[in-house]
Amino acid sequence: MKITGDHQLIKKINKYLVLDTIRRQFPISRADISARTGLNKATVSALVNELIESSFASETGLGESSGGRKPVMLLFNERAGFAIGVDLGVNYMLAMITDLSGAVVKKKRIDIAELEAGALTDKLKKTIRGLMPHVPASPYGVIGIGIGVPGLVDDQGSVLSAPNLGWTDVPLQSILAEEFGVDVVIDNEANAGALGEKEFGAGRDVSNLLYISVGMGIGAGIILNDTLYRGFSGFSGEVGHMALAQDGPLCGCGNRGCWETFASEKALLVNARAAYDDAADADAAAPNLDTLLSLARQGDPEARRLFADTGRWLGTGIANLVNVFNPELIVIGNRMSLASAWIGEAVYETLDSRSLAFHRSRASVAYSQLGHSSAALGAASMAIQRFFSTMKATWE
Ligand SMILES: [Zn+2]
Repeated sequence: MKITGDHQLIKKINKYLVLDTIRRQFPISRADISARTGLNKATVSALVNELIESSFASETGLGESSGGRKPVMLLFNERAGFAIGVDLGVNYMLAMITDLSGAVVKKKRIDIAELEAGALTDKLKKTIRGLMPHVPASPYGVIGIGIGVPGLVDDQGSVLSAPNLGWTDVPLQSILAEEFGVDVVIDNEANAGALGEKEFGAGRDVSNLLYISVGMGIGAGIILNDTLYRGFSGFSGEVGHMALAQDGPLCGCGNRGCWETFASEKALLVNARAAYDDAADADAAAPNLDTLLSLARQGDPEARRLFADTGRWLGTGIANLVNVFNPELIVIGNRMSLASAWIGEAVYETLDSRSLAFHRSRASVAYSQLGHSSAALGAASMAIQRFFSTMKATWE
């Protein structure tokens, strides 16, 4: 029989469907795959055999039976390959190795002071190179690298603009692909964080989710109907530059009164420097987020006031977003999520008083379940997704 292009395409789609079902539902029997996908049992068996041959699935002991013979269960081989995910923050870099289900094998976090594009990409290469010896042996090895960056990224993986890094037009994807010889995916860090929370964190059972990354800047990853909303040119989510005041502080983008000039870590530090201007305490005189958190924990009223102010500004911006998007869940992530104990009440109070009652009533607010790791995990999950899509194209 002549296999036509259509048949091949249908087979690829079915095989991917079977693989995806095993990935998300394992341990699972062939009969359950058939029931979930609507494919007949003979097709499922043939495709499962191919997936076992290519190391993506394996058989394990017998599962629960509903009466007859106990079925053989199938497992997804999470360790068939490994991804590297990196969250490139403005004052830190978090890099990790994960298996194909997002389990972290090794991670490394370093502080960053030098932001210049050449120096920082060198540091990024060095950090990734340092992880390579820790990648366990596997059939597919390193399947790809994903990077979340605080800026606008085009579809070629070039960073067009990252104001908080001072970068314009950095072809990061091609720099790293050339260096490491594997597929590289670059995306905005808030998009990566949203995908990380959706795939592995607080947003697993949620279809409409806003992930608000509050670090030195503020960005959002917008997931609508289970899909990341990228906008027409791929630049959606620049919520940090929502104009909240006509004549506010000058923002890195050139405008005044943007949300991130009031509610970001950067804004908090500017206000803290003014507040502790003549403090005798050395920690307080040169505040950073960690010293402010420790002051707040010790009951320092000034630190607590600064966090409450930040929380009120965060709540104001989030209220606007809730009114526009009517989300089910808002996840506050990145560094400011560490301050949840000190900003939380102010966020809720402002959100309650500023958002429309019908919108607010069914929207919940959570802090990142993945802690620091949402963007790095999301970046790894983008690399994993890319790997499976590329793999699908090569199937016969
Ligand atoms: Zn701005």
